[in-house]
Amino acid sequence: MTSRSDHIPLIDLGAQLSNLKDEIDDAIKRVLESGVFVGGEEVAAFEEEFAAFCGGGVCAAVGNGTDALYLTLRALEVGPGDEVVTVPNTFIATAEAITRTGARPVFVDVMPQTFGMDPNQLQEVLSPSTRVILPVHLYGLPVAIDSIKELAAAEGLAVVEDAAQAHGATVDGTPVGRLGVAGCFSFYPAKNLGTLGDGGAVVSDDAVLIERVRMLRNHGRREKYLHEVEGVNSRLDTLQAAVLRVKLPHLRAWNTARRDRAQAYREALEGLPMVQQLRPVPGTEPVWHLFVIQADKRDALRAALADDGIATGIHYPVPLHLQPVYASLGFGPGAFPVAEAAAERIISLPLYPEIPLETVRWIAERVRAFYGKA
Ligand SMILES: *Cc1c(COP(=O)(O)O)cnc(C)c1O
Repeated sequence: MTSRSDHIPLIDLGAQLSNLKDEIDDAIKRVLESGVFVGGEEVAAFEEEFAAFCGGGVCAAVGNGTDALYLTLRALEVGPGDEVVTVPNTFIATAEAITRTGARPVFVDVMPQTFGMDPNQLQEVLSPSTRVILPVHLYGLPVAIDSIKELAAAEGLAVVEDAAQAHGATVDGTPVGRLGVAGCFSFYPAKNLGTLGDGGAVVSDDAVLIERVRMLRNHGRREKYLHEVEGVNSRLDTLQAAVLRVKLPHLRAWNTARRDRAQAYREALEGLPMVQQLRPVPGTEPVWHLFVIQADKRDALRAALADDGIATGIHYPVPLHLQPVYASLGFGPGAFPVAEAAAERIISLPLYPEIPLETVRWIAERVRAFYGKA
């Protein structure tokens, strides 16, 4: 049983690795013996397997999730003078990928139910310079993509999905990453599918777009020393591809385990007026990268949980429009009320596929106890 002296981490990567240690050792050995360390058959095989996981399309593996976003925008020829619409309550990588192309990030506020892009506020931020709408499936909860796509189609804009937190989540049965022109994934160790370092991928039904990403990830070349454009060096290491191939067959079961644990939290915290839960868009199947609630007296709750040995997180404490680096975009407090209110109240509770359900229920009990509602 869990006691006060046990430390419960926010995520535990070790549990997953020890279960797969032999297979991972074999995969690493295979790569060492092959003598191929960048690209090669492992990467090509992973690209096929990950596209199949996403229910089809074509996949280009890249160095990390940030580059997946950046190279997709480059492949769409987004650049200086263009605007890309995204949300302020995301990891900074989403905005960095936009500014690195020379384009300007334009923020739109989010829906309180999911903290995903609010389609009803989209129209008013569009301008003649808008090229791409870039929603984020935050915490593994799919955004209200149908309304976003409808507007994008009417305005002739591309939708690119930031699916870095949502591998395997679906909307009406279609996996995220296949809902817009391209989906961008991260395989950073803590993601739902994580490797032993950095990794990322772009998935798309548009083979020409993927071909462009493949060229851009490799110094803008198709042939060894013939460069059509200037690209970057952002290839997936062979070792990382081999590790990802060991893990990918387990991803569905891990996502199911996450859903079961999220469900246990939801049931155990139901009816607690000090806590608001997220409500997935009907027809969507989340994969709960993080389990986030909004809580009264959030900071005191965090401290009380820390006293119980329970680690928590805040994803993310400062919305991008209020970050020092984006001061030049000219937004102040009050610009995006839903995202700003969320930042004050959100708390991420421990969630990973291997956390015992009884530990989840005990954590929920400690939350109730904090409010005197045990
Ligand atoms: C992790 C993450 C990224 C960036 O992925 P990296 O692999 O770390 O570069 C982008 N967007 C979101 C929402 C993320 O969570």
